[in-house]
Amino acid sequence: MASRALLILPSAFLSLAVLAAGPQPPPVEQPALRDIALAVSPKELEATDTRLVGFGTRHTLSDTKSDTRGIGAAERWVKSRFEQISKDCGGCLEIITPSQVFKGERMPKDGVEVMDVVAIQKGSDPNRYVVMTGHIDSRVSDIMNADAFEPGADDDGSGTSAVIEAARVLSKYKFRANVVYSVDAGEEQGLYGGQVIARYALDHHWYVEADLNNDIIGNSHGQNGVMDNTSVRVFSEGTRALETPKEAAYRRYHGGELDSPSRNVARYMQVLGEQYVPNWHVKLVYRTDRYGRGGDQTAFNALGFPAVRVTEANEDFTKQHQDVRVVNGIHYGDVLSGVDFDYLAKVTAMNAVTLAAMAWAPAPPLGLDIASDPAPSLSGGVDTAVSWKSPGGDAAGFDLRWRLTTDPQWDKRRFVGDAEQYTLKDVSIDDYFFGVASVSAAGFESPVEFPGATGSFIPSTPPPEETTAH
Ligand SMILES: [Zn+2]
Repeated sequence: MASRALLILPSAFLSLAVLAAGPQPPPVEQPALRDIALAVSPKELEATDTRLVGFGTRHTLSDTKSDTRGIGAAERWVKSRFEQISKDCGGCLEIITPSQVFKGERMPKDGVEVMDVVAIQKGSDPNRYVVMTGHIDSRVSDIMNADAFEPGADDDGSGTSAVIEAARVLSKYKFRANVVYSVDAGEEQGLYGGQVIARYALDHHWYVEADLNNDIIGNSHGQNGVMDNTSVRVFSEGTRALETPKEAAYRRYHGGELDSPSRNVARYMQVLGEQYVPNWHVKLVYRTDRYGRGGDQTAFNALGFPAVRVTEANEDFTKQHQDVRVVNGIHYGDVLSGVDFDYLAKVTAMNAVTLAAMAWAPAPPLGLDIASDPAPSLSGGVDTAVSWKSPGGDAAGFDLRWRLTTDPQWDKRRFVGDAEQYTLKDVSIDDYFFGVASVSAAGFESPVEFPGATGSFIPSTPPPEETTAH
């Protein structure tokens, strides 16, 4: 008895000591995130993409009745994959197929129903959601041609395969936030599938902390001749789509054009991707999408949700939106040989660790504000006071972050425990941008939030009633 008590006591004292010390700073490494990155399988991704290409075409206007060809067969197959993954995790996924009828320039006169196939992994917090999207539909040179060979292996069989693979890997874990895996249709016809899932989220009062949209993520051999299997691009809007003229005026004066919540999700993805995916470089692009282009993330942004677009570092436009053919020795068309599955696995791993980290972390803080300190009788102070409110849940502490106004990444930090305000001595409010991340007891961190309406993960402006004119 005595010796047993002796064995137990030291560890009991140790945990008491930890409790007495209060919340701890986040660890430098989360082994679970390393495991998740390693669990992503190039072979699984290749098998999924091969199956998708095997449906011949996945054009939004293609056959919906056949069991072997067209968008209907492909979407039913994705649903069956989600069902299988759910079976393997004891029913951890709820599968839904939200849809909406759209009319438009690239649609038949009477409109077409666009359906997404969505798996939801329920977390212990019913309100918070992190989303990953890819689009299943494909196209060739003529946008209205629904019945050619339209493999769409990279655009966007790669993104769809990544969404399914993330579901397979992450379904083995339990998270606080709900994780949503959305396979969207109708992207090529007018970004419709993104609108379906974003509108569904809004109608069901989801607090969406991020949509990670993956579109064209599997090719490592650029048309420019560059072979690069170690880099990816993450696009994000600089200022939020829903901003009142008053909020915009405040932001123009105080700064913040680089710090929408979407941009801070992109920064979060860069940090996690470069830490947990070996030999990996994340290029932040300070644009909503490639120049003049669009993707399903824009539908989330339009409704006030943070969202980013992930795309390979060097695209090959001879592979995209092209009839499969050879002209003057150039192979056109989006075929499987244009996808590098080891590269695709890295992009998928970056997504998976980002979703997991965010879903394990608390929500970002609320009501973030900064002020010059001490409140001066002079015209300014030399210290900066930062204040915020805990988002509740399992937020155990907060990580104060700052950077020079011209620096791209939050490179300075101070863990301040469970305080809701902190004064940084001799750090001038004039010279830096400030932000705060919430930290769980296990050390998982939320994305950094920038002060005010500019950076808030919850928009102050109500979203539009209708997504588009139908
Ligand atoms: Zn695409």
